[in-house]
Amino acid sequence: MPNSFDPDQTIRPEILALSAYHVPPATGMIKLDAMENPYALPPALQDEIAKLTAHAPINRYPDPSAVELKVTLREALAVPDGMDIMLGNGSDEIIQIIAMAAAKPDAVLMSVEPAFVMFRMIATFANMSYVGVPLNNDFSIDLDAILAGIEKHKPAVIFLAYPNNPTGNLFDADAILRIIEASPGIVVVDEAYHAFADASLIDKLTQHPNLLLMRTLSKLGLAGLRLGILIGRPEWLIQLEKLRLPYNVGIMTQLIAKAVLRHPELLLEQAAAIKTERSTMNKRLAAMDGVEVFHSDANFILLRVNGAKQIFQTLKQRGILIKNLDGTHPLLEECLRVTVGTIDENAQFCYAFHDIIKNH
Ligand code: PMP
Repeated sequence: MPNSFDPDQTIRPEILALSAYHVPPATGMIKLDAMENPYALPPALQDEIAKLTAHAPINRYPDPSAVELKVTLREALAVPDGMDIMLGNGSDEIIQIIAMAAAKPDAVLMSVEPAFVMFRMIATFANMSYVGVPLNNDFSIDLDAILAGIEKHKPAVIFLAYPNNPTGNLFDADAILRIIEASPGIVVVDEAYHAFADASLIDKLTQHPNLLLMRTLSKLGLAGLRLGILIGRPEWLIQLEKLRLPYNVGIMTQLIAKAVLRHPELLLEQAAAIKTERSTMNKRLAAMDGVEVFHSDANFILLRVNGAKQIFQTLKQRGILIKNLDGTHPLLEECLRVTVGTIDENAQFCYAFHDIIKNH
């Protein structure tokens, strides 16, 4: 028996080559880096949740099928008749389940670039090849390039976020439909930021047999619960369910999500407040010299400014955490992404940002 083991001998080379998904420490900071909803639940609902959880039978496994929660979700999300729901420990887990299911030898997972980084990472976890088709300079879909990519690579799965992260825009819906029609495999439309956009492809599910639609409660104020939702035809979901670990959605998540979703107006009010703040912030930032602000249909804003990396660092030193995207993709040169927070957080960010760039 060797007395020391070398991970290089055992772990797949593509995993050795990966850098772990980095979550920077944020204790005590104004946290505008992760697209969280900045608002707490109203005290009455917090009390209701406290009572519910106090009596939860945590000595037992949770309902593996989360039957009651799915009934609540079906109504809250207006899931079309004939479509099923699969739940994940966040939508990250759903991406992983889909990739595992489709990972035949040489299977390709395709997305656009820049896109949500987990599409690419999870392709690697699942041993799939990843093909990222660059967006146009204005972050719109390069339909010809994607159609050519589909023809060439015959992707088993295509992921498209609608609106897109980190760019914040909605792609042209007709272009997405063309992609769905041209695709030999599954197309997953990831509507993580749906609450902040006035568009959805949920009503296209019935017309397109290879379309799956993903949502999450994370951006709606429940990121800590970890609940992702996949909506699609039973033919697909029956297969994907085989890969879902039996108790992936815990009892606390089931109980709390049900309680909160009984008050859908509350989450919608918070999303509306975020949208109002988004436009206030957009105007303030656009009025600053040397700042290019991109239109957003999500709860964050992408902007371009000279010296982005240094500005990000200085903001961090001042206790404000946003996301630096400079160096992550050629289209994101000198770009920063800031999540829309509370009125006060946004004001502090805008003040500090302006102060830093005017001395830059
Ligand atoms: N999809 C997109 C486009 C995202 O930006 C994110 C989170 N940043 C997720 C999915 C994952 O969300 P969660 O796992 O919290 O549901």
